[in-house]
Amino acid sequence: MNEIKSRIIKLREIINEHNHNYYNLDKNLISDFDYDRLLDELINLESKYPEYFDENSPSNRVGGGLSDKFSTESHIYQMYSLDNTYSNEELESWYTRSSKILDTKDFEFCCELKYDGASVNLLYENGKLVRALTRGDGTQGDNITNNIKTIGSVPLNLNNIFLKKFEIRGEIIIRNDSFNQLNRKREELGEPIFKNPRNTASGSIKLLDSNEVARRPLQCFLYSIVSDEVKIKSHSELLNIARDMGFDVPKYEKVVDGLNGVKEYIYYWDKNRSNLPFEIDGIVIKINNINFQKKLGFTSKFPRWAIAYKYKAENLVTKLNSISFNVGRTGAITPVANLEPVLISGSTVKRASLHSFDQMMKLRLRVNDSVYVEKGGEIIPKITGIDYKNRGSENDVIKFPKNCPECETKLVKLDSEANFFCPNTKNCRPQVIGRIQHFVSRKAMNIDGLGDETIKLLYNRGYLKDISDIYNLDYDSISLIEGHADKSVKNLKIGVENSKSKPFQKVLYGLGIRYVGESASKKILKNIKSIDELMNMSIESLSQIDEIGEKTAASIVDFFQEEDNRDLITKLRSAGLIFIINDKSDLSYSLSNLTFVISGVFEMHSREEIKNLIEINGGKISSSISSKTNYLVAGNNIGPAKFSKANDLGVTIINEVSLIDLIS
Ligand code: AMP
Ligand code: ZN
Repeated sequence: MNEIKSRIIKLREIINEHNHNYYNLDKNLISDFDYDRLLDELINLESKYPEYFDENSPSNRVGGGLSDKFSTESHIYQMYSLDNTYSNEELESWYTRSSKILDTKDFEFCCELKYDGASVNLLYENGKLVRALTRGDGTQGDNITNNIKTIGSVPLNLNNIFLKKFEIRGEIIIRNDSFNQLNRKREELGEPIFKNPRNTASGSIKLLDSNEVARRPLQCFLYSIVSDEVKIKSHSELLNIARDMGFDVPKYEKVVDGLNGVKEYIYYWDKNRSNLPFEIDGIVIKINNINFQKKLGFTSKFPRWAIAYKYKAENLVTKLNSISFNVGRTGAITPVANLEPVLISGSTVKRASLHSFDQMMKLRLRVNDSVYVEKGGEIIPKITGIDYKNRGSENDVIKFPKNCPECETKLVKLDSEANFFCPNTKNCRPQVIGRIQHFVSRKAMNIDGLGDETIKLLYNRGYLKDISDIYNLDYDSISLIEGHADKSVKNLKIGVENSKSKPFQKVLYGLGIRYVGESASKKILKNIKSIDELMNMSIESLSQIDEIGEKTAASIVDFFQEEDNRDLITKLRSAGLIFIINDKSDLSYSLSNLTFVISGVFEMHSREEIKNLIEINGGKISSSISSKTNYLVAGNNIGPAKFSKANDLGVTIINEVSLIDLIS
């Protein structure tokens, strides 16, 4: 063997070994610097000597580039889902049913955690990772091999070839700490933060850009091997063999004898799951004996030899210290609970949302009440109830304020709204600041150099009293404010200047008229040409615009009836902002002339959101695939028939992430 080749092989071995130590054994035996040096050397040699290419080289972990779509392939063995239960009774009847079929009550259970992520199916042949599929419909899934290769703990080459050919199933997850870190990073970069680890994990493995996947802190926990060659007696032994081969199999499983052992395991993890470094949504109970598993077999949907015991969304009790009342941009008052800090799903919770006045009144909360706090899929936890055994004093019932906590104005409530609001739109501080923040926000005028904190500062110092002041800033005095270097003032000036050429629909959206969001702004401007036209329209004529309801129409009319708002328009107009549609091409969007079919269930957006996104960017939605369809936006659980029809007709299949790419 020549020197180059043996060096390449050696490097691959060393790097694989370090990966295994680091990701699977938690041992870090090499500095990042030295590791990167080895990897660089390998990547260099491989690019110089492509004849030694190996698709399972650890160099492929940094991401294999961009694909335009995933191919759909069949699992060798069907991927079943799991029968679910939330109660001990159901668990008992599962046990009774199983013991009848097995004709014995004497068998072991292997209890495991039910990792909350997205399932994958890895295929290994002769010790090498051959491909990775998503679960899909259980029969077929998407080939996401390049994405899975970026996960450091997934072995590309096995430590020993115990089985020649097998599928191994696992769950792609993100640990809580990595998730929080990822979000902090995104926040710094001004990118939208992710909702929860589960959705982020399952969204990430379906990204078409594997280089981006490599940047997501994914992990792959394995939990079952399927193969014709298996001669092993029990599931728990199989887990150990998987570990020996180099897979990441978390060590939380417990083999127990009877149902009582199972119940103890369930109870233990219900109490302790908040201490786990990752999220689980229940536990999985498997009959340990493989022969018994064979005897029990499968229903059309799940194995009869396993069942999932699901936990309810994590709910903890803590003390309610007080409630603050926040005033939003539109004047709506939202109650926010201040709690005795409590650890839920790995993060400390100090505040919880109560959503609205109506909801708060239903609970009749008292200071020092013990409240149930639930952290479901949302970032902001919510209060779901009160522990009635442990209440605060009756004298301390928390009352909803009668006056605005910021400006003392008497609050008002409309029957149609769940919240009170402060009618002092002109002088109530958070409302004014909120309106300015909205006006300069990215989707509106996108003024660089005028961040939330700067706006507050300029407001407090009297430089910025309403939106129109943005175009009359006294830059010389601002540059004298401490911490405002020349450079930031210059940026601010440029940002303000650039904003003057923003098209009418951005300006209209930026005005922050109630119910006039991005989508409504665009729809209105398809029908009218100038602000003058809009200002003179009646509720009736506005409601005739496609998809503009009466509520929105009334809100527009109200807005322009206010003299202050008419003044604002005059000022902005003389500052040079655009209030007419110059030519209709202003309204042509990235998806104009394209037709989309939406199918399946999506991870990051609701179907409604996807539909909206397409429409506000000028695309058309159609309900069935035809030769006129340009794109099929495919989510989960989409039927194979749709896929093959799209393929036959040459329709491009994209997922929600590529849709966003397409738009931008
Ligand atoms: P469900 O999606 O509720 O039908 O539950 C089935 C899914 O649970 C499987 O497809 C796996 O992705 C997931 N799962 C997580 N942990 C385990 C485990 N320890 N054993 C089996 N399945 C698991
Ligand atoms: Zn107020």
